[in-house]
Amino acid sequence: MPLMTTKPMFDLAYEGGFAIGAFNVNNMEITQGIVSACAAEKSPLILQISKGARKYANMRFLRHIISAAVEEHPELPIAIHLDHGDTADLAKACLNDGFTSVMIDGSHEPFEGNIKLTAEVVRMAHQAGVVVEAELGILGGIEEHVVGVKAEDVEKFLTDPEQAQDFWKRTHVDSLAIAIGTSHGAYKFKHEAKLAMGRIEQIMKTCPGLPLVMHGSSSVPQEFIDLINKYGGSMPNAKGVPEDQIYAAVTKYGVCKVNIDTDLRLALTAKIREVFATKPSEFDPRNYLGPGREAIVTMVRRKLQFLNSVGKAEAVVNQWKKLGEPMPAYYKK
Ligand SMILES: [Zn+2]
Repeated sequence: MPLMTTKPMFDLAYEGGFAIGAFNVNNMEITQGIVSACAAEKSPLILQISKGARKYANMRFLRHIISAAVEEHPELPIAIHLDHGDTADLAKACLNDGFTSVMIDGSHEPFEGNIKLTAEVVRMAHQAGVVVEAELGILGGIEEHVVGVKAEDVEKFLTDPEQAQDFWKRTHVDSLAIAIGTSHGAYKFKHEAKLAMGRIEQIMKTCPGLPLVMHGSSSVPQEFIDLINKYGGSMPNAKGVPEDQIYAAVTKYGVCKVNIDTDLRLALTAKIREVFATKPSEFDPRNYLGPGREAIVTMVRRKLQFLNSVGKAEAVVNQWKKLGEPMPAYYKK
C-alpha cells in the first residue's frame, strides 16, 4: 500500500523532467475519476484536500473515500496533501487525519511572519514523518478561501529568488509554491497567458534541489468552456495556462508538482450540463454524475501526458522502498 510522502516522488521528478499531478478531491466521483486515470497511465499522484473540501464533505467521509482508492489501486504511489492550509492548527488536524503532506500558506503574511508560521509547521510535521509545502510570492485569482492579486498586478508579486533561498534555509521546508505568473480559477489571464520561465530558472539557481510547485495551473480546456456555454452556462473569456507552457515548466525546470482543480470542476460541470440539456427527463444522478466522472478520466489522462508522469509509478514505488521512508505517525497508531 504505497501511501507515501511526496519525497520519493519529488526525488525522481526533479531530476527526471516530470511533475506529479496534484488533484483536489471533494467527492467520490471526482476521486474515482482521478485515480482511474492515474491507474490507466501508471502515474504517481497527489490527492489534495482544501479547507473548503474538509468543510463540504466532512473529513471522515473524504478519508474513507481516499482509503478506498488506495485499496483499489495498491500499486499506485499516492500522497495525501492539505492544499492551502492557513493555520498551524489546521495543519495539526491534518497530521492527525493521516495526511502525508501539508501545505502551509503564509504568503499573505509579511516575509518574517511567513517564515515563522512555516517553520513552526515544518517542525511539527517533520516530527510526525510528514512533509511540508509553503508558498512565497502571491498568486493571482481566487481559490476557495485563497484570494490573490488582480491579474494585472501579478507581475509585481512574483517570487523573489534571493528571498526564496533565505526562506528555504530558515524554514527547512520540503517544497515551495512559487508565483511565476499563474493565477487561480478559470479566468487567469486577460490576454495571452505567459509564465515567467526566467524566474523559475533564477529560483532554481538560488535554491538548487528544492522541488517547486505550480498553483493555478489548470489549462481550462476550451472544449469544456464551449459545452458549458452551449448548454446554458455563462463563462465568457475563461482562459488557462496553455498545456505546452506547463510541459516546458515540468520538463526543463524543477517544477515537481502541478495543482489541478479548476479543470476537474469544468469537466464535471460541462458533462452534467450536457446531460441536463439533451435529456431533460433524466433525473437519476448516476446518469449525469457517471458521464461527469468519465469526462474527468479522459481529461486527467491527457493531463498526465503533458506532466510527463505517464509510466512513472513503478519507479516512484522503488524509490520509496529504497528510502525506507517510515510511515507517518498516524499509520503507526
Ligand atoms: Zn493554490
